[in-house]
Amino acid sequence: MSEASGDNPASVSNDAIRDEVQSWLADNWDPEAMKKGAFGPLGRDWTAKVVDAAWAATRWPKQWYGRDYNDAQARIVETEFARVGAPGTGQDRINLWANTVLTFGNEQFKKKYVPALLKSEINMCLLYSEPGAGSDLAGLRTRAERDGDEWVVNGQKVWTSGAATADYGMLVARTDWESPKHGGISFFFCPMKQPGVEVRPLRQITNESHFNEVFLTDVRIPATNLLGPLNGGWRVLQTALAYERSMMGEGARGPRSGAKGASEKGEEELIALAREAGRLSDPVLRQDIARVIAYKKLNALNTARAKAELEQGTSSPIMSLGKLAMSRILHEEAKLRTNLLDAGSLLESSDYPRAEDANFLTLNAYFTSIGGGTDQIQRNIIGERVLGLPKEPEVDRDVPFRSVRSS
Ligand SMILES: Cc1cc2nc3c(=O)[nH]c(=O)nc-3n(C[C@H](O)[C@H](O)[C@H](O)COP(=O)(O)OP(=O)(O)OC[C@H]3O[C@@H](n4cnc5c(N)ncnc54)[C@H](O)[C@@H]3O)c2cc1C
Repeated sequence: MSEASGDNPASVSNDAIRDEVQSWLADNWDPEAMKKGAFGPLGRDWTAKVVDAAWAATRWPKQWYGRDYNDAQARIVETEFARVGAPGTGQDRINLWANTVLTFGNEQFKKKYVPALLKSEINMCLLYSEPGAGSDLAGLRTRAERDGDEWVVNGQKVWTSGAATADYGMLVARTDWESPKHGGISFFFCPMKQPGVEVRPLRQITNESHFNEVFLTDVRIPATNLLGPLNGGWRVLQTALAYERSMMGEGARGPRSGAKGASEKGEEELIALAREAGRLSDPVLRQDIARVIAYKKLNALNTARAKAELEQGTSSPIMSLGKLAMSRILHEEAKLRTNLLDAGSLLESSDYPRAEDANFLTLNAYFTSIGGGTDQIQRNIIGERVLGLPKEPEVDRDVPFRSVRSS
């Protein structure tokens, strides 16, 4: 074992970590090979290699593929990976599935699923929202009933991203109807490839189809797939949501090509776009460009602060700030790109990629301002849990769920 992966990570010098990761990348990373198959088996092989070498989740304990690094040490690894353009590290920050399982799974469960989740060997989806329970998720009515060594689930979910290809869904279902609404919910790891799961695709405003309705009829879940305590699913959900919001606060889709909208490249592109349009000297547009870039910089700093505060097993309301900021950035950037193109933004076709990008951004900005909890809900969370303002009135909060009226 090298110096950098010695027994006491706190005593390992930053230089030793940098040397070790640089030399590992020099021996293993081949960007040309990856370009050819980044999203196919080659991409998965690479991810598996990163996991086996303990670079995927360096803040995690050694027994779970990590190195017990503190945040500053982990950032060194992430910086070196980013420098050569290699993916696969930082999963302790962004892999919501693996983080949730690591936090709430028992030993057996973690052994079975943590490596598979880190190595992207299984596809996942989130079975949270229902037709009558989105912002008010604690009002969910999908039920899970115990039958021997299994749970039997009946109900309907909606807006489920990736359900068509998922092997498992993280499912919230009601297991106790006598408790108040937040208290009777449990969190399951639900096998999706079974006859009772019917997935119907929904068409989005961008003409894509990433999310679905999911009908659950007598779906069977092994009792061992309960994550966290029975009827204690609300807390598990808060942790999973915090990771999701953190991911959404950190990055979002830019143009349709899938490039990140919040990148440095995006900033240069805005300036290039203004130059191309001959409007770089327009003081109002210059101010708008500067505002978008400032939002992006501020959000990156705020996200770093929130990440530092997110410890295993806790949820951080500050993540809501990052998600809200990213939503604002996306809407502002879309508006700016449209303004820069002026009437040219109406020329929507593959012959006018600038217009396609601007229009896609305009429509897709709603992904971040609705998915994972809407902007209004993030503002409520910030008001109540960050600023300490009085809570919204909730007349059904302490009522047994069976007696709560539904529309
Ligand atoms: C791109 C995308 C992907 C998604 N992926 C998934 C997924 O994989 N799995 C999943 O389970 N769900 C997913 N969702 C669903 C998403 O979480 C819900 O759409 C969201 O929580 C809002 O719920 P709703 O659509 O039922 O809206 P509603 O809750 O009906 O809200 C309607 C409007 O009322 C406002 N509102 C509601 N309550 C309040 C309040 N108390 N204070 C102020 N305003 C309020 C909302 O902000 C919103 O503007 C996804 C959504 C999107 C857009």
